[in-house]
Amino acid sequence: MNRRQYIKRQVAGTAILAASGLVHKASAQNLPSPDPDNHDILDVDVLVVGGGSAGHVAAIQAGRMGAKTVLLERNSQLGGTTTTGGVNFPGLFHAWGKQYISGIGWELVAKSVEIDGKELPDFSKVPKSHPQHQVRINAQLYALLAEEACLDAGVSLAYYQFPKKIEETSNGWLVDVVGQGVQYQLRCRQIVDCTGGASVVGMLGLERSWSDVRQPGTQMVVFTGFDQAVVQENKKLIQKMYDEAIANGKLQKGDTWKGNAMRPIQGASGSNHIFGADSSTAATQTQTNLAGRKHVLRMLKFLKTIPGGENATIDRMMNETASRETFRIIGETTLTVNDYTSGRIFDDALSYSFYPIDLHDAHGVKPKPLAHGKVPTIPRGALIPKGSKNIMVAGRCLSSDRLANSAARVQASCMGMGQAAAVTAALAAKSGVTPIEVPLEKIREELKKHGAIIPQGAKA
Ligand SMILES: Cc1cc2nc3c(=O)[nH]c(=O)nc-3n(C[C@H](O)[C@H](O)[C@H](O)COP(=O)(O)OP(=O)(O)OC[C@H]3O[C@@H](n4cnc5c(N)ncnc54)[C@H](O)[C@@H]3O)c2cc1C
Repeated sequence: MNRRQYIKRQVAGTAILAASGLVHKASAQNLPSPDPDNHDILDVDVLVVGGGSAGHVAAIQAGRMGAKTVLLERNSQLGGTTTTGGVNFPGLFHAWGKQYISGIGWELVAKSVEIDGKELPDFSKVPKSHPQHQVRINAQLYALLAEEACLDAGVSLAYYQFPKKIEETSNGWLVDVVGQGVQYQLRCRQIVDCTGGASVVGMLGLERSWSDVRQPGTQMVVFTGFDQAVVQENKKLIQKMYDEAIANGKLQKGDTWKGNAMRPIQGASGSNHIFGADSSTAATQTQTNLAGRKHVLRMLKFLKTIPGGENATIDRMMNETASRETFRIIGETTLTVNDYTSGRIFDDALSYSFYPIDLHDAHGVKPKPLAHGKVPTIPRGALIPKGSKNIMVAGRCLSSDRLANSAARVQASCMGMGQAAAVTAALAAKSGVTPIEVPLEKIREELKKHGAIIPQGAKA
């Protein structure tokens, strides 16, 4: 290719990027309010980092309030663990026969179920085990609806991009954003860190907690192609073959939960444990994916040797191994397992959360259901890094002890936190105060306007 052809191709490429809003120049359409003096600086009210279970809801909320909002997502789509991780069964919006989490997350979940022609569970009946009321959604459809809602709310979506450096300014932050072929500065009033592992909080040197022993992750994968009649006749033999494969190192502990060989054969989507899973950095996510994929190949090779498994193959597999536990912030308030199991209504509660204590370990998981009638709450203080100004978090990195986190990390709770944090951040940006200075009654009033459910009995 000669130089003229090269330049022509670059120009055409830039035009396509500009049309899709993903070009780095502030003059591109879909990026808000360029600084007239510096075309490489974007000026926004709210920057949401991470578009997972919490982040897409946060961005939509801020956008719907009229805040100029940019959402940086290092991956290719919205939804995070819900979509890219393949955990497409968000829970729990309902408790004890009643809805406790509503708002934007619920709106998208219900819409995706409706468009998909599926039915919601009957929430009026209290199930034997809480997670039976999780809603199974079509992950791909959900990602599309989340993206549509972001664009409708005027949110600027920036995929494959992430903050490289962040400096504090007198009234917010100056953020260096990078991505392949993309580099620009963004000035914002408020940041909502929805990266799952509080990576922005980490960049700012604010305190986070980390457990050396963490919950394992899971590579979501569904195997198919079994002759189920033959499998059923040989269940005992298959289990024996599995145990032998573990003993001789062809399979590894964690390749199925509790060593139950039948789970992957019966179509379970996430019955493996990937120990040491960690999505905190590109390097640890790479190692996590490698471990998840080795598991799949190991398992497939084994399944092809069992009676009825000759034609076994992969039906579907997510392209990212999902992590349950990484960094959590040290917040103004830390949610403890006692707060959670007692259903404590915090004075500054902004949303509910509901799930069993659900700590996965080397042996599997034994969820501990909450006592009848208990519905815990999420305080604003658990979303604000201790001693910080102009930054909040939402999602599984909320300030919490390990056991409380094993329950509060679930998706409906993350969505509720995303909405609450975004309302707070947008109001703070508008009135030029920090998130902790925004009056609680204003936040709650705005949340109600946007369909969220406010914890009963929380003080002003
Ligand atoms: C295997 C497994 C099973 C689970 N089972 C259930 C269940 O049954 N029900 C349930 O409700 N919950 C379940 N959970 C928990 C729940 O899915 C997660 O805790 C929740 O989705 C976390 O949401 P989040 O928004 O905090 O993080 P995520 O959804 O992980 O989103 C974080 C996003 O931030 C992006 N990101 C990270 N760093 C950066 C950066 N520096 N810049 C830009 N973008 C960045 C990531 O790409 C990602 O999109 C499960 C989790 C796992 C792993």
